[in-house]
Amino acid sequence: MNKELQVAALQNGTVIDHIPSDKLFTVVSLLDLHHEETNITIGNNFVSKKLGRKGIIKIADRFFSEEEISRLSVVAPNIKLNIIRNYEVVEKKILELPDELKGIVKCNNPKCITNNEPMQTHFHVIDKQVGVLKCHYCEKEQSMENIKLI
Ligand SMILES: [Zn+2]
Repeated sequence: MNKELQVAALQNGTVIDHIPSDKLFTVVSLLDLHHEETNITIGNNFVSKKLGRKGIIKIADRFFSEEEISRLSVVAPNIKLNIIRNYEVVEKKILELPDELKGIVKCNNPKCITNNEPMQTHFHVIDKQVGVLKCHYCEKEQSMENIKLI
C-alpha cells in the first residue's frame, strides 16, 4: 500500500505507523482511543517488509504528548509517528525506548515500596536491545516482555 495515500486523507492529526499487528489493540487502549470523539481510522494486517504484518492508526486533530509517546514505546518500540498539518507530514518520529520510565510500568516485586506506598514507579532501562528494566527502588530487573502497565 502506498504510504502517501494512507496519510493523504488526514488534514491535521497523527498517523501511527509500523505497529506490529499483535500490538495494535494494545496501542488503541493505551492511548484510550475508545473515548476519542475525533475521526479515527484503524487498519490492521497490512503487509510490511519489515514487520510481516502491521497496523496503522490515523487520528484526526490529535497530537500526543511526550508521556503518551513514551508509554507507546514501551509496548511497541519501533512505531513511527507522522504528524500531519494541513495535509502535509510536518514531523516524523520513530519511537525509541527512553532511558528511564516513570509511572508507566509496574514493578513485579510484590515487596517493592512502589507496590506498597502511593508513589510513582521508576525504572532504568538497562538494555534497550533486549529490553531489560531495573527498578530504581528495589533493583529488581524485569524483561520488557512481561511488563504490566499502570
Ligand atoms: Zn521495585
